[in-house]
Amino acid sequence: MSEPKLGTLAVHAGEGETLSVPATTTPVYQATTYRFETAADAAAYLDAPEGRWLYARLENPTVVAAERKIAALEGAEAAACFASGMAALTAAFLASLRAGDALLLCDTLYGQTTRLARDVLERFGVEVRVVPFDGLAAAVAAAPRNARALVFESPTNPTLRIADVPAVAAACRARGIRSVFDATFASPVNLRAIPLGVDLVVHSTTKFLNGHSDHLGGAVAGSRALVDGVLAVRRSTGGNLDAAAAYDLLRGMKTLEVRVLRQNETALRVARALEGHPRVERVLYPFLESHPDHAMARVLLRGGGGVLSFTVRGGYPAVARVHDALRLVARASSLGGVESLASIPVISSHRNATDAELAAQGIGRGTLRVSVGLEDAEDIAADLLRALEQA
Ligand SMILES: *Cc1c(COP(=O)(O)O)cnc(C)c1O
Repeated sequence: MSEPKLGTLAVHAGEGETLSVPATTTPVYQATTYRFETAADAAAYLDAPEGRWLYARLENPTVVAAERKIAALEGAEAAACFASGMAALTAAFLASLRAGDALLLCDTLYGQTTRLARDVLERFGVEVRVVPFDGLAAAVAAAPRNARALVFESPTNPTLRIADVPAVAAACRARGIRSVFDATFASPVNLRAIPLGVDLVVHSTTKFLNGHSDHLGGAVAGSRALVDGVLAVRRSTGGNLDAAAAYDLLRGMKTLEVRVLRQNETALRVARALEGHPRVERVLYPFLESHPDHAMARVLLRGGGGVLSFTVRGGYPAVARVHDALRLVARASSLGGVESLASIPVISSHRNATDAELAAQGIGRGTLRVSVGLEDAEDIAADLLRALEQA
């Protein structure tokens, strides 16, 4: 049997009969297994699985449609979807490392990525070496001989730092170190790291790619050969995305560009409205001239993204009052959705950080992270300014 056309609804009308419907959307193939015409077809799967279908942990047409879309968005040859962003990162690491190898772990990363390296990978003999965000390319060049992979992010959480992605990717290439770039905050609208020389781009599709806070998923994109290695891990570890969740991702990605372009615009307007407010110590947003990586951001990014942070004078008690006074902006973790969300790093992502670690990263006890949604920019800014006045 030939490959079901993606976007065409195949209906089994009866034994061996298939109806093909030219639907405008990709159907949810809610099937765990697929029919073979003959024993020869079944046997052929093992020789050449490409374009054949066996079992949903291995491949699902709705998921494959999402993977092709992500590969196209990233300018990559291939992509693999996962049940979460952490499952995607896990597979990227398992496909890239073996016992005795060193993983270069950037010091500014999503907290769970650090815990995955420390609590899981280290137990299997992977040496974890922390490398500084500032001067990352030089740290890669000076890495120990057993360094096999680097994981880094941009924009980072919650300070929105922007790495010199092409320089870091080139430093990795020169040393034979696989670069793994978590592009969740950037989205492919603002930054496409594969054309800049990165080996593997990882996404929590839970965030901007889906964009509606109703989907949990992840993806890895890269060359066909590297993604095949990642898929081999997925087949054994079983982290494939569910077909219904793949549909939510496909639907979200249809509006990715319009959403992110609007969020870029809104976040910049909100950041400007907050900057200079007497109760605000500092606003961090890559497209503000005051951001430490502003020049890099203007070169690498199409927009500053939908996330900004600001530090309220008075530390945690003051930011807690601002947080609790919000009306339009929801008090919630996560980011990249159509609703604006606010969270306090020192009681969420950076709960266990010491004062010295916070200071080194430029995070304050009074920092609030805001992910702007699709509400009117004036309304979001007014809510934040009113909460600042009341607090
Ligand atoms: C949310 C997030 C993850 C983890 O993704 P899940 O889908 O929650 O597993 C990884 N990296 C970054 C930067 C994230 O924001």
